[in-house]
Amino acid sequence: MELAPLQIEPAIRLSASEIPQHQDRLIQSVVMRAWEKVDFYRQRWSEHQIDPESIRSVTDLKKLPIFRKQDIEADLAAHPPFGSLQGNFHCVRLQGSSGSTGKPKPILHTRLDWENITNLWARRLSMQGVTAADRVQVAFNFALFIPSFTSLEGAMKLGALAIPTGSGAVTPSLRQLELARDWGVTVMGTTGGYALHLAAIAQEHGYDLKRDFNIRVMYHTGEPLVEETRRRIEELWGCKSYNNYGSVETGAPAWECVHQNGMHLNEDAYIFEIVDPVTLEPVPDGQEGALVMTSLFKEAAPIIRYMIGDIAAIWSEPCACGCSFRRLSPIRGRIDDMLKIRGTVVYPTAIEAALRTFPMLAPEFRIVVDRTHDGADYLEVQAEVQDLAETSPLVNLIAHAIKQKIGCTAVVTLHAIGSLSGHENVAARTKNRYVVDKRKKL
Ligand SMILES: [Zn+2]
Repeated sequence: MELAPLQIEPAIRLSASEIPQHQDRLIQSVVMRAWEKVDFYRQRWSEHQIDPESIRSVTDLKKLPIFRKQDIEADLAAHPPFGSLQGNFHCVRLQGSSGSTGKPKPILHTRLDWENITNLWARRLSMQGVTAADRVQVAFNFALFIPSFTSLEGAMKLGALAIPTGSGAVTPSLRQLELARDWGVTVMGTTGGYALHLAAIAQEHGYDLKRDFNIRVMYHTGEPLVEETRRRIEELWGCKSYNNYGSVETGAPAWECVHQNGMHLNEDAYIFEIVDPVTLEPVPDGQEGALVMTSLFKEAAPIIRYMIGDIAAIWSEPCACGCSFRRLSPIRGRIDDMLKIRGTVVYPTAIEAALRTFPMLAPEFRIVVDRTHDGADYLEVQAEVQDLAETSPLVNLIAHAIKQKIGCTAVVTLHAIGSLSGHENVAARTKNRYVVDKRKKL
């Protein structure tokens, strides 16, 4: 079989009724290419006694085993340095996970992979209103973190002027602000956390965010964008703030349109499933579960039924923008980030949402989980506030808001501005580091 690679264009050409046909047409060659060129799949599928030729449509896909991040890590340990998932392809680019736990996970790309992912970024930014008239400041960490480069190139493909300032680690936050103002930046790429941090620094130094800057779009990726955080970014900067969902293993699977109501799934480039995280059985559209993805275009490191660990639902109702792709609900959280507090499941995003409703709190916060001497779970939420006097009514209000959101009680403590953000090094990071779970050390 000739395994012609798929080229993804920035423009969306498929109607909703053409998507199943398109996916069915490609799935057989995706599976055969992985079988022939990627030892990771050949070995796993052989162990499960799967005949790859029996996968002829998207419906057959569920015969293949789901794999997780832990399987990639085990494969890397068994086959150093790059593992057996990369496959037998000529690769020109290595990007990696940001290494929030342990070593960075390398993912290799062919020239075509890179072309496709940057095209998907051009699509995202275009649907978020970016045009050739824009000046796009990319304030992500330019290192192994892939969206720094791919979003920059996506902006260039739209004809915009791309400005790679990098994260606060290489261009300090005050300089970022000066450049944004002096060079007339209209679009900025940052993590949601850094957008709030930059706003706080700007205000501290006497900038008027709406008068001194001309930023009309902020695009985010790398961490779940909580709705309350988005609203705060939009209010502060007077701009639109958009969420984009992806990872180094997957590329650029989902994006928000101007209606900001869930993220459209690139169904011409991936197959998306939601499964029960325990039984791995499929769950219907609208119901929450674990997201499982299959890439249709990737040559190197293809993903075939990859359970990335995020909890969300797929919405199949049409969007007001008219796009034919279904949408992914906002991510509730990662399975790995889920906390069990006195038997209640708590996602850090829910605590973040409660905190964002208090405009007097600075953007940084920390969630500390521990055990008391009698073995009960203890939950503390630390937040920063300008005026530490007269805080006790505020503490009670915050504790009440958190209880409403998560259903269990937290001890709230307030700290001076900078005492948490300094510790967390917000300007340089690519992922939230909000949780300190001391129980894990026991
Ligand atoms: Zn839409």
